[in-house]
Amino acid sequence: MIRFEGVVKKFGDHVVLRELDFSVRPGEFVTLIGPSGSGKTTILRLLMTLEQVNEGRIFVGGECLSHVEKNGKFVPAGEKHQRRMRRRIGMVFQQFNLFPNMKVLQNVTEAPIRALGLSRQEAEQRGRELLEMVGLSEKADAHPSQLSGGQQQRVAIARALAMRPEVLLLDEVTSALDPELVAGVLKVLKDIASTTDITFLCVTHEMQFARDVSDRVLMFDHGQIIEDAPPEKLFTNPDHERTREFLQAVL
Ligand code: ADP
Repeated sequence: MIRFEGVVKKFGDHVVLRELDFSVRPGEFVTLIGPSGSGKTTILRLLMTLEQVNEGRIFVGGECLSHVEKNGKFVPAGEKHQRRMRRRIGMVFQQFNLFPNMKVLQNVTEAPIRALGLSRQEAEQRGRELLEMVGLSEKADAHPSQLSGGQQQRVAIARALAMRPEVLLLDEVTSALDPELVAGVLKVLKDIASTTDITFLCVTHEMQFARDVSDRVLMFDHGQIIEDAPPEKLFTNPDHERTREFLQAVL
């Protein structure tokens, strides 16, 4: 579902990702862990085409993000192709970024109406189902400012799902929350991961969550994957000293 092939990303002279190769199978839940500044968020931003690679290719569902085939040659893709590819991918951020002037239900229905062409009635029906899925049916008519941070983040998750993404990217989705609100958000994500066939790529510092929900965990250091293993292996018996040190520091 996701494939990075020889991806190099630099900011000026600073090489953030060095010849990165990895892939994620359809329906898998893969978590990226590693020290701050190791390039995890950059991977998500490249997938959202918020950044462009310097070298290498990224594929989503077998299609290249940046290039299309034309008369037997690979040529840089236009904005239309990138927009179509972006639509296959949802993202939930640390900051929920809800539309403050819209009610909760409208936050969830706005994009499907505008971008997918759903009728208001279809979008509202689906929106209410999604709000139920994240445990917020009774908040459909509230404004975001009337909700806790954890509830706002659950609305942001419902909003991302409303676009029917094949891939959902999660970037530190609980970092801005008060500790007592974290578990509710993680539970919702765990339920969604186990009941849908969405492919997840997740950056988190919540090691217990990563351990609970991931099929694979990738340990990052200095822009490369130094370890790629199922959570029970990586968290209990990692191969690399660097992984061991990192886990000791954060657990
Ligand atoms: P992580 O998510 O692992 O903390 P990031 O992907 O955010 O790491 O950042 C990796 C490195 O790239 C950091 O050193 C960061 O300062 C740098 N970086 C990220 N975005 C930019 C940017 N837009 N311009 C310059 N440097 C950046």
